[in-house]
Amino acid sequence: MPRTLTPALRRAAFAASFLLILSALPASAQDADILHRTVDELAAAINDQVVEWRRDIHANPELGMQEFRTAGLVAEHLESLGIEVATGVGGTGVVGTLRGARPGPVVALRADMDGLPVTELADVPFASQVTTTWQGREVGVMHACGHDNHVAILMGVASILAEMRDDLPGTVKFIFQPAEEGPGGAAPMLADGAFEDPRPDAVFGLHVFPSPAGTIMYRTGGMLASSDGLRIVVRGVQTHGAMPWAGVDPIATAAQIVVGLQTVVSRQVDLTDSPAIVTVGQIEGGNRGNIIPDTVLMIGTIRTLNPDTREMVHERVRRMAQNIAEANGAEAEVTIDLGYPVTVNDPALTRRMVPSLERVAGEGVVIMPPTTGAEDFSYFAEEVPGMFIGLGVGADDPALVHPNHSPYFYADERALPIGVRAMASLAVDFLSSNPISEDR
Ligand SMILES: [Zn+2]
Ligand SMILES: [Zn+2]
Repeated sequence: MPRTLTPALRRAAFAASFLLILSALPASAQDADILHRTVDELAAAINDQVVEWRRDIHANPELGMQEFRTAGLVAEHLESLGIEVATGVGGTGVVGTLRGARPGPVVALRADMDGLPVTELADVPFASQVTTTWQGREVGVMHACGHDNHVAILMGVASILAEMRDDLPGTVKFIFQPAEEGPGGAAPMLADGAFEDPRPDAVFGLHVFPSPAGTIMYRTGGMLASSDGLRIVVRGVQTHGAMPWAGVDPIATAAQIVVGLQTVVSRQVDLTDSPAIVTVGQIEGGNRGNIIPDTVLMIGTIRTLNPDTREMVHERVRRMAQNIAEANGAEAEVTIDLGYPVTVNDPALTRRMVPSLERVAGEGVVIMPPTTGAEDFSYFAEEVPGMFIGLGVGADDPALVHPNHSPYFYADERALPIGVRAMASLAVDFLSSNPISEDR
């Protein structure tokens, strides 16, 4: 035997040692690597299709609970992939259930489908020309909050994961919900069994924002606010404007209540822990200068970023309004209409999933500041641990950057493949790294 190896043998030996190194890695690391590569390759392959879907949905927006065309597109697509489909869930909602070939946990991915009563002014060839009647008036309809992107991204993710079915350890539920902008589609979908049979172990959602295209934003804990309606009726006793002592003045009382409510936030909420907002946006009372009326109506909104703060602020708002009224000899009837809860990103789940986002967007993963807008993804995240992420779709040209709900809202489509890879990776990584999968 010659002591020196021929080049062919040397190559073979190198290959053997490389294989040894590879097999010394935990099997899951290799598997994860292969899964990630597959996600990325399939995402690149389907990108043109995702852009096409997004433009088609953008050009054909529908208001909440009227997403018939969009839901039809979604259902048809999921069916074409061999995914089990339920339609008409909680209104126009669609639920797809993709069972992977291997056993494992269940993950839900959610996209909202509704547009807004906004007449589009964005200068894109696929701008919406759609009009409808809303609250008795003819209005334009536009995907001014970017939900067209959410739907197209999740349709792309469905294609990718269906293709990977043989390697998927667990089940993916695709939740396409109506009416996020109101009156809400998440709660009706849950009431209609969207999270049953099988029940997810976690839920992920994505929203586009006009931050730099391709950035991914997240936050641990309260990310988006609760949004509750405030209504106070102050009852006094009507009298002549020149003889206030003969009655009880609800206008002076309401004015004190407005000022008092400011101190609920500024003096009673621990603002270093989480912000809160109490706004009175409407006051109605009286009809002329020389009559003190008997009632004043006050309408407002309460926003908080922590479920405990939410409860506390509600209680303090009641106490403040009722006691100020009482001090004036008046009465305050306080009604708080519970709206969307705080969107809370489960801390343990968030910690676990951030590496998936970093693999997709690297330095582009940033912490999102607490945001006082609200999302009904929060209902899903109240049911099971949830994580909601932001995807930047802002253009490089500042003239094209506008806030969500603006008639000029513009989404830079370079962000779409990042969104697709992010959502697909969250699902794949959750399923393949879940401690639950070992128990099952
Ligand atoms: Zn919106
Ligand atoms: Zn939105």
